[in-house]
Amino acid sequence: MGLMRIIIVGGGFAGVRCARVLRKRLTEEACEIVLFDRENSMVYYPLLAEVAGATIGPDSVATPLRQLLPQVRCRTEEVRRIDHAASELEYEGYDGRLRRMGFDHAVIACGSSVNLDLVPGMSDHAFPLKSVGDAMALRFHVMEQLEKAEVCDDPERRRWYLSFVVVGGGFSGVEIAGELNDLVRASIRFYSSFTARDVTVTLVHARDQILPEVSPTLREFARRKMEQAGIHIILNTRVVATADGVGLVDGRMIGGATIVCTIGTTAAQLVRWLDAPKEKDRLVTDPDMRLRGIANVWAVGDCAVIVNAYDRNPAPTTGQFAERQGRQVAENIHRVLQGQPTRPFSYKSLGTL
Ligand SMILES: Cc1cc2nc3c(=O)[nH]c(=O)nc-3n(C[C@H](O)[C@H](O)[C@H](O)COP(=O)(O)OP(=O)(O)OC[C@H]3O[C@@H](n4cnc5c(N)ncnc54)[C@H](O)[C@@H]3O)c2cc1C
Repeated sequence: MGLMRIIIVGGGFAGVRCARVLRKRLTEEACEIVLFDRENSMVYYPLLAEVAGATIGPDSVATPLRQLLPQVRCRTEEVRRIDHAASELEYEGYDGRLRRMGFDHAVIACGSSVNLDLVPGMSDHAFPLKSVGDAMALRFHVMEQLEKAEVCDDPERRRWYLSFVVVGGGFSGVEIAGELNDLVRASIRFYSSFTARDVTVTLVHARDQILPEVSPTLREFARRKMEQAGIHIILNTRVVATADGVGLVDGRMIGGATIVCTIGTTAAQLVRWLDAPKEKDRLVTDPDMRLRGIANVWAVGDCAVIVNAYDRNPAPTTGQFAERQGRQVAENIHRVLQGQPTRPFSYKSLGTL
């Protein structure tokens, strides 16, 4: 019999932690650990807004997977399908051909993806924020709008260049609205054709409060700080994007040359194609993070619905939880290999900031 093989799909918060813990527990002689990711870096998404806002550079949020995981076989390839009945996965090789690889255990940690088509007009007119490339494209676009405003001789058009609309009041929306606001307002002193009065940053959110993930006190604190910084917040409103700005359901129009869309999170394609129980497009797991009814395939992070035994609630889709799930799933796989019982996922949150 060959060497045992554990495959991890996704080198994000969950996958990287899982690979590191497994590598500590299992020697290279006992087990080959293979990590697939379509990119060769781990991206620290919570700081993407800071990249777009030019507070930090792109290098600060992406770390090469090979550097993080020296004793893991990292493969920069996209996994297309998991055939759990055959314990094999199918991936697109360097030459575009599909190949298969067998596994003893597989961990799905492929996160989520963005589908701007879920909101009318967004795929044509809005910037997403889900990759380092997105953040850099947005940063360049914002700087371009400032340059256009500087030389524009039509005051109304100038204000349009200086109007920025962020759709979605979750972590990403709030952070990017703050970053854009800071970037634009801090840049004003380098320009002579406009002042702070010409700049508008608007955050539009469908619910009655921003930041549903955090406590009411923190939510209120964030709202107050943002408004003090000059950000206009519109709640309880759905939007459509157009070439001129966003249209609100009540018929109002918020003009602006820049729309950033932070909603439209959807299942990763691999999950959509997987024949396994799902809830709202995420994989349903047993308490120990095994895919329901499948002995050797596990799912962690944003792509999975995992009940937290600590408070019996589904774990939130945050980096903090993904990382802990990655660690605990590795311990569970190790327990299975040792013939010991697995444990349910359990974690007391450190809080949010
Ligand atoms: C802009 C933004 C801001 C955020 N801010 C915060 C915050 O402030 N605090 C917080 O806790 N969380 C935040 N989050 C959420 C946090 O980033 C996620 O919860 C976390 O990244 C989930 O980790 P994961 O390992 O499940 O997935 P990810 O980190 O998304 O990693 C998944 C990996 O899988 C790879 N992959 C996907 N499909 C395939 C495939 N078929 N084949 C090969 N590779 C594949 C992807 O390339 C990716 O590298 C933010 C997210 C975004 C986008």
